[in-house]
Amino acid sequence: MVKIGLQIRATLENVEEVETCHPDYSFFLKLKCTNCGEQSEKWHDLTESERVNEDSRNPNGFNFFMKCKLCSRENSIDIVEKSNVVYTADDSGKFKTIVSFDCRGVEPMEFSPRTGWIVKSAENGQKFEDVDLSEDDWVEYDTKNKVSVGIYEFESNFVKLKK
Ligand SMILES: [Zn+2]
Repeated sequence: MVKIGLQIRATLENVEEVETCHPDYSFFLKLKCTNCGEQSEKWHDLTESERVNEDSRNPNGFNFFMKCKLCSRENSIDIVEKSNVVYTADDSGKFKTIVSFDCRGVEPMEFSPRTGWIVKSAENGQKFEDVDLSEDDWVEYDTKNKVSVGIYEFESNFVKLKK
């Protein structure tokens, strides 16, 4: 089992917090089988509140399960409990690990941020739900504080974490 962290970096404008800290956020990942090297072009989603492939061997199931098309190995991923953290204004411009995955037989290669992000404006401003970061940039107007808020130059990568 390998523990892999998803890191994000973005430039925040008048934004205090950006987060996926709710169990219904779906992480869209491209994956590689570490047994045979098969890397599919398909996006797979994994959601903390969802468990799949519950059977007698794994009564609790997994957040994600797939059988490799090429080598038939059974691979799975779980989101590490309580590893999902907030990206704050202090992190702006820097990479930060926002969630960790327990990976068995498979490793994430690419992340697609998509929808479901929660954004809180600075100075106790407006809260935006279900923000879409699929364009890697997001701009809105905070009607409470009367300022524009934005997330720019969104980037992500993966790091192997020590146990
Ligand atoms: Zn394989």
